[in-house]
Amino acid sequence: MSDKMIAVVNYAPEKGSVELRELNIPEIGDEDVLLQVENVGVCGSDLHQWTADHSWKVNYPVVLGHEFGGVIAARGKSVQSWKEGDRVVSETAAIINPDSPMTKAGLYNLDPDRKGFGYGVNGAMTKYVRVPARCLHHVPANLSFEQACLTEPCCVAYNAVAVNASIKPGDRVIVLGPGTIGILCAAVAKLCGAHVAVVGLEADRTRLNIAKQYGCEPIVGDATSWANAVDGMGADVIIDAAGISQTLKIALQLIRPKGQIIKVGWGPQPMNFSLDQLVQKNVTLQGSFSHNWPIWEKVIGLLSSGILDVKPIIGGVWNFNDWHTAFEKMHSGQVVKSVLKPI
Ligand SMILES: [Zn+2]
Repeated sequence: MSDKMIAVVNYAPEKGSVELRELNIPEIGDEDVLLQVENVGVCGSDLHQWTADHSWKVNYPVVLGHEFGGVIAARGKSVQSWKEGDRVVSETAAIINPDSPMTKAGLYNLDPDRKGFGYGVNGAMTKYVRVPARCLHHVPANLSFEQACLTEPCCVAYNAVAVNASIKPGDRVIVLGPGTIGILCAAVAKLCGAHVAVVGLEADRTRLNIAKQYGCEPIVGDATSWANAVDGMGADVIIDAAGISQTLKIALQLIRPKGQIIKVGWGPQPMNFSLDQLVQKNVTLQGSFSHNWPIWEKVIGLLSSGILDVKPIIGGVWNFNDWHTAFEKMHSGQVVKSVLKPI
């Protein structure tokens, strides 16, 4: 094989600093595998880095992409439990501190030293990526890579909804924001037996229609009447998956007393409103970040059994030459999720 590969690289902090570059195939260490990428999903965070409105530190230049699956092309000397040709997906915590108390508790997603693919180390929008073997999970033969590469956002949603929220069958759950994470959160809340509404803006109608395919109620604008429909008290759980800070204000209005707000959407903007409703309503505000090993195993099981279906959110598969179209379509809300294929 040639020792060069094409990669989608975010090379500087300025807006729009993404281009195709030719890179060397990475060397791997003893505990790594060389993963040949079959498909890689475009994440909202890839778009945030492209448009330069992200709030995390990026190690420029960096290959974008952290939602990926593929086949093991080579393995390091110490890697025993994997072999060439295995179909795998990879978690995102490329670097963790093994001595961190969070890592020792199995919560390496919350290790402050964690560095992920696509911002901390080179990601998967390329042909080959170096992956520590501890990040790998098997992909069953019946699960295509176009779907399997979306295990990661499904894990974000699973952690927010099935781990960090406590949803009971019959609960009314409102998801703010019809992006990938919002719709997947809605889908997982449906699996928990909730009545679910997904709220967006006028411009989100296409994406809200996809939420309908998961049995959710699409709402443009004000969700107050849906929140209050049963007893006038508001929704049991609000999942804030919008990429702006201001939606927390809406969540505080729609939540019922003693309800729970899960904030999974990022937003670097400061907020300028009172949190008194949080106090007055005795509301729990809970953040949710990333995912860990048991969540990945659960989600792969849901995907391969068809209980959780990601096909409705996939708006298309583009090769790297068309990365700009894939990013643009997702950014404009024409599609929920763009998937890329290496060249
Ligand atoms: Zn992502």
